[in-house]
Amino acid sequence: MIDYKKLGLVNTREMFKRAINGGYAIPAFNFNNMEQLQAIIKAAATKKSPVILQVSKGARQYANQTLLRYMAEGAVEYAKELGCNHPEIALHLDHGDSFETCKSCIDMGFSSVMIDGSALPYEENVALTKKVVDYAHQYDVTVEGELGVLAGVEDEVSHAESHYTKPEEVIDFATRTGCDSLAISIGTSHGAYKFTPEQCTRDPQTGRLVPPPLAFDVLDAVMEKLPGFPIVLHGSSSVPQEEVDTINKFGGKLPNAVGIPEEQLRKAAKSAVCKINIDSDSRLAMTAAVRRVFAEKPGEFDPRKYLGPARDNMQKLYEHKIVDVLGSENKLANLD
Ligand SMILES: [Zn+2]
Repeated sequence: MIDYKKLGLVNTREMFKRAINGGYAIPAFNFNNMEQLQAIIKAAATKKSPVILQVSKGARQYANQTLLRYMAEGAVEYAKELGCNHPEIALHLDHGDSFETCKSCIDMGFSSVMIDGSALPYEENVALTKKVVDYAHQYDVTVEGELGVLAGVEDEVSHAESHYTKPEEVIDFATRTGCDSLAISIGTSHGAYKFTPEQCTRDPQTGRLVPPPLAFDVLDAVMEKLPGFPIVLHGSSSVPQEEVDTINKFGGKLPNAVGIPEEQLRKAAKSAVCKINIDSDSRLAMTAAVRRVFAEKPGEFDPRKYLGPARDNMQKLYEHKIVDVLGSENKLANLD
């Protein structure tokens, strides 16, 4: 049993409380390699933002769970080295699919886990989430549950259609499971193709796809039922068109990729939404930078020469999210 507190990590309880009261959201960035982790930590340390490092089941398989855990431990020390003396870093399992996966992460030093029972019948979701909460809380690990189904594809999580969270279920779910935060479905979606062109309108000026707005009425109804309860949005990449354009210009093929407009996320961040998950945007930033180097310098074969620019581009993206979208800059409890 590894105690995450000994690794210098924190759970999400205090950071969420402050985020709700302060009207901002904590960034939850997925990582599965060193450059991504470096970019996340550099951005969070520079901007003095709390941050959630997310690891999916697919990332654990890709990078090795032991290595990822030590990388997170190293991230705390790296943040200090960068001049951030009191970093607030949570290590979180994204989309835990079973009690066993959650338990294994908790035992290995994660400070927070998600148990995603959203595809199960309601009573089974309640029972599974409660089982994880009962285990996690023994070690002061926080737990995120989910109600409602997001459309889109993310690693092994995939659904063709979304089903909005039913506000009438949230009190019963939160009370009976004891979960610390709740992921809800209000129209965000996993992946870089969040909406089909048929679901969008077109901007007459630019010809770009304009996605449908998020269901803020559902969010408002959830907040009314559970005042002050931490709400989580998954699938909240904005799919920056300049990155998509760069990818397509240099040999990529991402037609009609579309995400959640940043002004909608800004609005959500000011509410009880206190954790916003961003994964696809960093994938796009990385891919765009790598494709540019490959196209402009075809003789280059030193990975540092293309992964370095990729890392820089991701850091820029993370800082932009922290400062301009989520509002979590300078929100560490101790800014010294
Ligand atoms: Zn997700």
